[in-house]
Amino acid sequence: MIGIDRVLIVGGGLAGLSLAIALRRRGIGAEIVERAVEWPAEGNVYLPANGFRALESLGLQEAVASEAFVIPRQRFLDHRGRLLMDVDLQQVWGGIGPCLAMPRRVLHSVLLDGASGMPVRPGRTIRSVTQDARAARVVFDDGSGGEYDLVVGADGIRSSVRRLVFGGGPPRPVGQASWRCVVEGFPGIASWTAMLGRGKTFLAIPLGGGRLYCYCDVASYATEDPTGGDPARLRELFGGFSGPVPEIFGRIEASGRPYFSPIEEVVLDAWVDGRVVLIGDAAHAMSPNMAQGVSMALEDALVLAETAADGRPPDRCLSAFQERRMPRVRRVREQTRRRDGTRKLPPAVRDLVLRVAGQRAFRSDYRPLMRDP
Ligand SMILES: Cc1cc2nc3c(=O)[nH]c(=O)nc-3n(C[C@H](O)[C@H](O)[C@H](O)COP(=O)(O)OP(=O)(O)OC[C@H]3O[C@@H](n4cnc5c(N)ncnc54)[C@H](O)[C@@H]3O)c2cc1C
Repeated sequence: MIGIDRVLIVGGGLAGLSLAIALRRRGIGAEIVERAVEWPAEGNVYLPANGFRALESLGLQEAVASEAFVIPRQRFLDHRGRLLMDVDLQQVWGGIGPCLAMPRRVLHSVLLDGASGMPVRPGRTIRSVTQDARAARVVFDDGSGGEYDLVVGADGIRSSVRRLVFGGGPPRPVGQASWRCVVEGFPGIASWTAMLGRGKTFLAIPLGGGRLYCYCDVASYATEDPTGGDPARLRELFGGFSGPVPEIFGRIEASGRPYFSPIEEVVLDAWVDGRVVLIGDAAHAMSPNMAQGVSMALEDALVLAETAADGRPPDRCLSAFQERRMPRVRRVREQTRRRDGTRKLPPAVRDLVLRVAGQRAFRSDYRPLMRDP
């Protein structure tokens, strides 16, 4: 057998489930092992149009769109609420598709439905992976084993496949500490709205029905929550912000504890080792400022399924996958870092840059993603 027909996907997140669906559409069967017993109900996602186009390729666009909120514009303001730039997303993305915001569980459940009937083993992980010219051999955490043509690490930023096969250290911090939460009662905010302070950003993304997904970050390498989980201290950190921010923090204080996480990235020279390949955050997690994490994971899945179905031996398919995906992902990471750098400029300089050149830079950041992956 030269081609590929036995695939193990480690990780049933967004990358892993979409890969399983994409492989099935090309007639290749896959098994998924997922460490969690239940899929997470928390979190929200902003999905730019290239991510929507990837869902279309999986035949899932309607199921997602019916439960998502269309984001018409991305607005950037200073910390006092003065407009720096206002991007019309329809103009930027043209006919590629809408940009959407939604609870993460919407995406998960649509992908899970799409993968129904496929062998998914929750509550399971892997203990080891070895390989030779004939197969990759995996031992699972219950002591059972299996032989595969391909093993795919779709197991997120702290990937076990990466650790077991590729070595290397943990993800590295990018110098941002972030908090996330959802508040109700803000029907007046209908666009993606970021407010930029000195070393601080507050972002509100409408989810529909007056609900807002709020994300804020400060420049910091802290790995523990510097506010100790106290929303009042978080409000103090953003004390100089005006506009809707104080009112939003009032709701945050009333409704509970924002979720803290340091922002980290994964940078590798290779995502392929023989019959083993990494996709999604396992291969290339990055700071969320271009909101391309999910889209890159979905695109990886589509391209890997296409190359896996081309009839070549596994190592050649995987090299073709890496060759096609790496330049695009690298470019997104470079733009992400440049945009993070702009946020760190002294506010007067940053504001001038955004007012004068922001629209042009925004279009040029996303233009390469208009092309099919
Ligand atoms: C603060 C923040 C905000 C973000 N906002 C956005 C956004 O708005 N838009 C966007 O596109 N992206 C965003 N991202 C990035 C996005 O969340 C990720 O890029 C995306 O989830 C990657 O999908 P994945 O399937 O590769 O990984 P994950 O979604 O992490 O899925 C990995 C899966 O593997 C499972 N797993 C882990 N280890 C094992 C193991 N050893 N064995 C078996 N299973 C395992 C996990 O349980 C999980 O189900 C954000 C990230 C952060 C940190």
